[in-house]
Amino acid sequence: MSRFGNALLQLGLYRYMVFTVSRFGRPVIELGPHRFNKWAYSRGARASWTCVKQYKQCRARLVTLHNVIVKILNEHNH
Ligand SMILES: [Zn+2]
Repeated sequence: MSRFGNALLQLGLYRYMVFTVSRFGRPVIELGPHRFNKWAYSRGARASWTCVKQYKQCRARLVTLHNVIVKILNEHNH
């Protein structure tokens, strides 16, 4: 199975994602127990988001298009 092969299954599990903002006023997606920061250089309708624990080498990320998740790698190391 490819790294994104079960994305649709995961999207089903995480349809309760919440768009919010951090205490610094930055866009954040809450997805179950995990939070994702918007990549600072995202422009337009398509945006990349990385896990807030990226600084701890967590590689989980997702991509939104018009605020809908179109790609997700929801593998966390924490
Ligand atoms: Zn993570």
